[in-house]
Amino acid sequence: EMMYSKEKTMFILNAPTAQKSSVTLRLYKQGQGGKAYKTLKMKKLGDERWEATVKGDLKGKFYTFDIGKGETPGIFAKAVGVNGKRGAIVDLRDTDPEGWANDVRPTLNNPCDLVIYEMHHRDFSVDISSGLKNKGKFLALTEPKAIEHLQRLGVNAVHILPSYDYASVDESKPDVPQYNWGYDPLNYNVPEGSYSTDAATPTTRIREFKQMVQALHKAGIRVILDVVYNHTFDINGSNFQKTYPDYFYRKTAEGKYSDGTGCGNETASEKPLMREFMKESVEYWVKEYHIDGFRFDLMGVHDIETMNEIRAMVDKIDPSIYIYGEGWSAGSCAYPQEKLAMKAHAKQLDGIGAFSDEMRDALRGPFSDDHKGGFLIGEPNQEESIKFGIVGAIAHPQIDMTKVNYSREAWTNEPSQMVAYVSCHDDMCLTDRLRATMPYITDDELIRLDLLAQTAVLTSQGVPFILAGEEMLRDKKGVHNSFRSPDSINRLDWNNLKRYPQVFDYYSGLIALRKAHPAFRMGKAEEVRKNLEFVDAPKGVVAFRLKNNAGGDAWQNIYVVLNSQKTPQNVKVAEGSYTKVVANGKVNAEGLGLISGSTLTVAPQSALIVHD
Ligand code: CA
Repeated sequence: EMMYSKEKTMFILNAPTAQKSSVTLRLYKQGQGGKAYKTLKMKKLGDERWEATVKGDLKGKFYTFDIGKGETPGIFAKAVGVNGKRGAIVDLRDTDPEGWANDVRPTLNNPCDLVIYEMHHRDFSVDISSGLKNKGKFLALTEPKAIEHLQRLGVNAVHILPSYDYASVDESKPDVPQYNWGYDPLNYNVPEGSYSTDAATPTTRIREFKQMVQALHKAGIRVILDVVYNHTFDINGSNFQKTYPDYFYRKTAEGKYSDGTGCGNETASEKPLMREFMKESVEYWVKEYHIDGFRFDLMGVHDIETMNEIRAMVDKIDPSIYIYGEGWSAGSCAYPQEKLAMKAHAKQLDGIGAFSDEMRDALRGPFSDDHKGGFLIGEPNQEESIKFGIVGAIAHPQIDMTKVNYSREAWTNEPSQMVAYVSCHDDMCLTDRLRATMPYITDDELIRLDLLAQTAVLTSQGVPFILAGEEMLRDKKGVHNSFRSPDSINRLDWNNLKRYPQVFDYYSGLIALRKAHPAFRMGKAEEVRKNLEFVDAPKGVVAFRLKNNAGGDAWQNIYVVLNSQKTPQNVKVAEGSYTKVVANGKVNAEGLGLISGSTLTVAPQSALIVHD
């Protein structure tokens, strides 16, 4: 750690196994290259900590620690030079944009009120068609065109893919196009340099990140950070290893580094210093950067207790900060399965959400086989898994769990613990998946099924989540794992907004409908059990009724019918007179026509929503 003041700077390193008088502090004038202008031996402070104090104003200088395992900025650097190799001495108050002290988090009553937009900085703005000036940068999200797009779409949270300092992009070459999702952490508590306009000036990335948060907050949009504490880019080069060797990683019974992440190593959240590190890191992002939510990558690698402690710590600051994660790992972990923060253990993780692969895969097919489809292309027996996603993975008397694809029992306490989605940055986006599973699909059919899929997501009682660009019918040219594919694969083509205006209109219309009608987001399991009733429907159709002015809705009864069949389908409902608000690929909350009687007819491959 580095504590700066004009008069002196104090450096402290927690390095319990460092040998006596062997911890070196080096000071540099540059963020990379050149020789140290000053080298000091740090003093031992108690049993585990090392200290050095340097007089004078060191602002603008750089530093590294060295216990004999190579130079490191330490595990909790708050500012770094280019490529994150050296810590930077900054006064964080210099990085606050004007008005930062008055920045406020947009209000949120229940996570089910969120509509999350998952985006990568480069995907979003790098293409010329975006019309944005700061291509691939944090600042793109401060530009009116970007903000207006998000506001018109209606999303109220952006989930930004890893935006802490990661290793795989060379920040010293801003003019060379480089791409990575960023799941290769280097410095957890510093923004990534390649997303700033000047990676070599340490304060720039910090200030620009804050400007981004500030602009989004002003627009009523929350900012959710993707955090990847489960592994580091590598072991030997990691700041953990260079500070307290082997402590932060799990090992197998044979003494090998465990690899439950599929990335070569796996951190040990259950160890006190790792747990403390994660808590302090999350707290730091909330307090210094005003972050409103966290998405834990491979949350199933972390232990339940750590996740609950993080939740409790965040609750003390603001309980509306939403925490969710991937309730799985990518391999077997060197820790007892029953203690891991897996989706199946969500009931022990109150207030923490997990992605539902049940609904995702029932709609579009399994992660393991891109060419196998689901409900959307008419695969049979997917209905029950979709129903399970509609209720937010709670226990519901009408769901037969023996017919749900992956889970034998309900796994949430409350619907806010389930993230509803059909696509994310991982594997194929929705259009690619539909093309891969339906080889002769026409554009018309593709759009119909795309809209049908998102209707399931946006009428789920869980927390809806969409991948950026789906609203412009994006594709990734069929690439499954595009983590380092070029811009030509990953970039959004904003011209699609003109090509497929009906897609954006449907997404935005449906989001507006969800936001205007609490029946779609009751927020409480008891309410959902009481007021959401599934209706008998033909094969390939899922139908439900939201009754009793659910959630305090102005509409007494709402019927939602999802038809994946290529022919019109009928569903029997209570005799009455109904106003269509979603039908045949169109949304209009004011009404798209009336239906009288007790039969709802839903057009092929589309959704119907009516109210009485
Ligand atoms: Ca970096």
